[in-house]
Amino acid sequence: MLYIHIPYCHHKCTYCAFYSVARGRNVEEYVAALCLELAGRRCDHPLRTVYIGGGTPTVLTIRQLERIVDTIRANYDLSQLEEATIEANPENLTPQYLEGLAAMRFFNRLSIGIQSFDDGELKMLNRVHDSRQACDAIRNAAAAGFDNLSVDLIMGLPRPHSVGLQLSLDRLSSLLPLGAVKHLSCYELTVEQGTMLDRQLKTGRLSMPEDDEVTEQYAALQEWCRANGFEQYEVSNFCRPGWHSRHNSRYWNRTPYTGVGAAAHSFDGTRRRWNVADAARYIDGANAGKIPFEEETLTRADACNEYIMTALRTAKGIERQMLASLAPQGSEAALSKGLARFVGAGLLIESGTHYTTTPEGLLQADGIAASLFV
Ligand code: SF4
Repeated sequence: MLYIHIPYCHHKCTYCAFYSVARGRNVEEYVAALCLELAGRRCDHPLRTVYIGGGTPTVLTIRQLERIVDTIRANYDLSQLEEATIEANPENLTPQYLEGLAAMRFFNRLSIGIQSFDDGELKMLNRVHDSRQACDAIRNAAAAGFDNLSVDLIMGLPRPHSVGLQLSLDRLSSLLPLGAVKHLSCYELTVEQGTMLDRQLKTGRLSMPEDDEVTEQYAALQEWCRANGFEQYEVSNFCRPGWHSRHNSRYWNRTPYTGVGAAAHSFDGTRRRWNVADAARYIDGANAGKIPFEEETLTRADACNEYIMTALRTAKGIERQMLASLAPQGSEAALSKGLARFVGAGLLIESGTHYTTTPEGLLQADGIAASLFV
């Protein structure tokens, strides 16, 4: 698994706390640094998935993306590659740009950050695109031959500008006949400290919806997915049968991965490392052959808790064998007792091999996980 981080964006969305910088002058140098790191961390292990995320990877020119793709091809074994995704923002997905992406014959999946199909909501979030560009992006991508599109939406948007998730779902319905949208990610808006959204809420310009309203939106989302043939395979992720994100599913499975770029995380099965979250320092480090990074070795308890947290959010659930291999010595009895309590409460189902959530349990997955932590 290979993840490549592009930290540039046109400008900052109000809710965003990710490391991203307004498209700067050092993009070309950044791409060169990425290629140095990609070559320096080459491995013989065949890659099954590649994911270019951000930020907004599509602020790069086609030529810059080609340079990255060529470096991947030159340094990694792609003989078993199943999925190559690039995150894209709608305003970048013009017919010309998509033609360039398709000509690379590398990406087979686009993850499009639409977030909403309503112009008022998009403006409130300070997104660059409008609803027409969102629809055009999907039509253009389908016309360019991309038949595995993922759409990102956000639910639980603030008042007074939110019109609710249903409008976006209805717009998305009208694009399904194209046959290209195979995947939907819909996350609930979370307020991160220090963001513009945080300030707008504190000054009273906006207010968050009540819990009941968000619960209703989530129920409508699940209903829409059922009605349109999308399976739920994670709390916030839905797909047409067989079209789940291979890359993200492997994160949830504790598969090791290499992360390249400023702020990118890597995981080797026991250690997690993350590159410096500063594009200029990253570039200098790559040129000097020493990219600054920090790392931590996960304790068994950390690894076990991370697994519980991510696995409970998936339809597959917790694999008993995996849990047994991760649980620290002495924690097994309390863990079994905790799991049995949630089975008794009708929130988990126990099978021979897995613990999976019931529909009600899925709504409480994070809370259940937290109370099971070892
Ligand atoms: S496009 Fe994505 S990464 Fe960039 S500012 Fe908006 S939310 Fe953040």
